[in-house]
Amino acid sequence: MILVLEPSTTETQKKDICLRLQKQGFYTRLVDQTGRVFISVDGIALDKLAKEVADWNGVSEIIEGEYPYYLASREFSRKNSTIKIGKVDDVTVEFGGEKIVSIAGPCAIETEDMAVKLALKVKEAGTQIFRAMLFKPRSSPYSFQGLGKLGISILKTLKKESGLLLLSEVREPMEIEQLYDHVDMFQVGTRNMSNFQLLKYLGKARKPVLLKRGMGASFDELLCAAEYIMVHGNSDVILCERGIRTFDKYTRFSLDIAAVPALKELSHLPVIVDPSHATGRSSLIAPMIYAAISAGADGVMTEIHENPETAFSDGPQAITPEKFKSIMKVASKLAETINRKF
Ligand code: PEP
Ligand code: MN
Repeated sequence: MILVLEPSTTETQKKDICLRLQKQGFYTRLVDQTGRVFISVDGIALDKLAKEVADWNGVSEIIEGEYPYYLASREFSRKNSTIKIGKVDDVTVEFGGEKIVSIAGPCAIETEDMAVKLALKVKEAGTQIFRAMLFKPRSSPYSFQGLGKLGISILKTLKKESGLLLLSEVREPMEIEQLYDHVDMFQVGTRNMSNFQLLKYLGKARKPVLLKRGMGASFDELLCAAEYIMVHGNSDVILCERGIRTFDKYTRFSLDIAAVPALKELSHLPVIVDPSHATGRSSLIAPMIYAAISAGADGVMTEIHENPETAFSDGPQAITPEKFKSIMKVASKLAETINRKF
């Protein structure tokens, strides 16, 4: 059960309400970092309690039922959230608005020269956010793990030369600190969706987070992961459908396109799609981008490489900047048909 408190409730009143509940044997958690103050209450005979607390000073609303997540839920906000990331050439970039955001770039930064050239090309094609990946969570310990912190100076050059916003993946709290001053948003990859310690740190970090769905995670599990970030103080979470593990081996994963409208029914958070990791095949990227836009995605993240055959990682799913540019042209026409821009 959730008790929503009056915004004017004083600190003493909040503590008193929690104490009263705890004395009756209930477990409470006070949340007041997101503009709305509420207490989540756990215990037995909550229905009886609901009648009693209705008269308590400071309680404005009682939301009955079990809530594994609340801040991330539709119950919390009927209105879709818009999440601002920054500006590119004086134009504000936000997820969840009329404009569909493009994130593009290599699987991993390989050299400064490669990253800067690619950033300029994807920007010209209409991208606002560059995949500036230095820390790579790879399935095999022998695969390229990214340039790591040695690549941080590249991020500074990238920003200066391209003016794009930068997204970079973090696998542990130390990497948040290392990247904090150099990127505009963090990514949590599929393998770390349930790394709750990392999620808690990202809650405190107060920089937008792109949270990718675990390859075997349900919608509820994804939204619980988002809740971890939000309950620790950061409401700027963008969800990403990146394919789930099914039985077919032709594609790397199965892109669950229904996840886009389904997550929007369950949550007010923006939802984007990653067709690259979902399919693992460059030939399938274009139709999956079009499908994502048609399904109502707020953004698309695409892996691009100048020469996919020589890529240090994920070459088979990378498309060239030229191919990307032509896909973007079709995609923006498609977006117009559903009253959006791309
Ligand atoms: C990535 O986007 O760089 C990545 C590794 O994706 P995922 O976590 O979805 O595999
Ligand atoms: Mn990749």
